[in-house]
Amino acid sequence: MSSQAPHNTLLIPGPIEFDDAVLQSMSHYAEVLSESHVGPAFVKTFGETLTLLRKLFQTTSPTAQPFVISGSGTLGWDIVASNLIERGEDALVLHTGYFGDSFAAALETYGVRATQLKAPIGERPSLAEIEEALKQKPYKIITITHVDTSTGVLSDIKAIAELVRRVSPDTLVVVDGVCSVGCEEIAFDAWDLDVVLTASQKAIGCPPGLSILMLSGRALDRFKSRKTPPASYYASIANWLPIMQNYEAGKPSYFATPPTQLIHALHTSLTKITSRPLAERFAIHAKTSDKVKAAVAELGLTQLATKPENQSHAMTAIRLPQGMTAPDILPALLKRGVVFAAGLHKEIAPLYIRFGHMGVSVTEPGRNDIDKAIAALKEAYAEVKQAKGL
Ligand SMILES: *Cc1c(COP(=O)(O)O)cnc(C)c1O
Repeated sequence: MSSQAPHNTLLIPGPIEFDDAVLQSMSHYAEVLSESHVGPAFVKTFGETLTLLRKLFQTTSPTAQPFVISGSGTLGWDIVASNLIERGEDALVLHTGYFGDSFAAALETYGVRATQLKAPIGERPSLAEIEEALKQKPYKIITITHVDTSTGVLSDIKAIAELVRRVSPDTLVVVDGVCSVGCEEIAFDAWDLDVVLTASQKAIGCPPGLSILMLSGRALDRFKSRKTPPASYYASIANWLPIMQNYEAGKPSYFATPPTQLIHALHTSLTKITSRPLAERFAIHAKTSDKVKAAVAELGLTQLATKPENQSHAMTAIRLPQGMTAPDILPALLKRGVVFAAGLHKEIAPLYIRFGHMGVSVTEPGRNDIDKAIAALKEAYAEVKQAKGL
């Protein structure tokens, strides 16, 4: 039984419902507050957290390097843009929704030339289009949004990484995994990825506030061979690399104060996640996603991503019928104790809603969150349809 006060079920694409143990670990003051962030107990917790991340990303490469830095997922874009590419260099940004535009804007902030390869809403650029784009210019990095949270489109990062290695081997493969790490399969070593960036509050199931990255040895070499200094101070890999290495080696180290409570929460969450086979975790997210998508189809509704291979397992973007908008149906869902998100893609935001299915709501079926949400969706949809005379 959860010890949390009764509350509406949060099923937006992050932040998500919390595990009790994750929340409780944040009030563990004796180890966190009364002992400093460079005291042995905290150094141990932080060091173990970094090692647990290697498990989550399925990397055993001694040259891969995890980073956990106070900030949100967005900080990951600044870290990539200010360290792994330089002013005037080219980045290829694969666009499957809102987050491609934002990553491109972050790159441009640092003087990087970002070329976006766009697909219609609900689609993703094809491998043939990506291959053609890669042959146009020597791109320093390619960025891929693994799950675009604005559209629910899943990208095939394994196939894209293979393609990049074949046609443009020096291009770093950078994955925005903010809405995928912890629920979609990611094999950092086997797929030969260079950067996967994420955040604490989506499928990892912690409160917001941590920017989390895994960098390959190739990405670190790229950083070390920069011609110009990093283009930022707080986001500089030069400042954070020794800190992360020291913590993992059990040595106290300081650049900027880490968010001690959040690190405890992340440690708790990663310990739980990695205590079971990851394949099982990915499978239950896929199965739950199939169930949600089947229920949506049964209601006669469609998704933004129409092709099954384009559909993420983290969330479902549900297109509303003509005459119904997100502000019509979200209150009817809330009345039934379920919180979904409105649309985010600026061209069609009012015309769809987003149902997030990640973390404990999925891995602990006893909570009944998903079945409750499916039932609420059926009822709310029928109610609004009737009210609108549709
Ligand atoms: C949520 C999200 C972000 C931004 O993360 P914040 O923690 O809100 O800064 C970036 N990319 C994707 C794919 C996301 O889902």
